[in-house]
Amino acid sequence: MTTAVDSPTTVALPEITRSRHVPPPSGPREPLKVSVYERMSKSNAQLMPIFPYDGAGAIVPCGAVLYGGPDRTHGHFFHWNTVSELLVAWGCNEGMIATGSLMATQPFHGVNSFLRDEKKEGAFMLATITQRQSSEAGQREALSAKCEKCKQELVKLEYASAPEGAPDYDPTAFGGQEGDPFLQFSTMWGSQEFVKIRNSEEGRTCQECGHENYIFDQMPWGWNVFYDKTRIANEAYRSLEAAAKGAQG
Ligand SMILES: [Zn+2]
Repeated sequence: MTTAVDSPTTVALPEITRSRHVPPPSGPREPLKVSVYERMSKSNAQLMPIFPYDGAGAIVPCGAVLYGGPDRTHGHFFHWNTVSELLVAWGCNEGMIATGSLMATQPFHGVNSFLRDEKKEGAFMLATITQRQSSEAGQREALSAKCEKCKQELVKLEYASAPEGAPDYDPTAFGGQEGDPFLQFSTMWGSQEFVKIRNSEEGRTCQECGHENYIFDQMPWGWNVFYDKTRIANEAYRSLEAAAKGAQG
């Protein structure tokens, strides 16, 4: 017994020309798979990109692990970003955002521990904040702080945060050098610069009411650690290159 099979030439193919395609990997941005929980267990800073890609057009999920304790002080500041941010809460206890929820932040938003009580042992939040890097010129960010007493703006640091590949990208921005194999993430550079200004005597003293504001504790945020380690990774890479050249005569 034989079964009739349509010849391929007689089968009408569905209309696919209008469907959208994700282009195949081009090489520089190979597909990678990570567990957000595993990755964040080894993180050294809040807003750490969990993939090593943050160039123009890249979708950049950045992880944060915030937790409470009697000695934990996160302070408060404001962040402004020309690109959109989406927060996903991968796990929370006594947090301001429920586990499994998403939140699209406003371009200008306040930032603190996102915990109901930062002094409470056992309170935590593991989240990602994802931004899409601009392919066009003009990506910018700012951090600012207000006086805890009168709410007057204390300090503001606004900077161009153009990613690699954008028309206004500057390889020497964010403390980098031309040819760095590992690029600084603009938000990390900006955040640790902001803390320097914010914690200076001038930055802490309110011009409006004279109140001397608290010293912002960078320890729970770790931006300076991330920034320093990225700088050292570049220097270490260069030192091996120099050693190899020396060994080859
Ligand atoms: Zn004031």
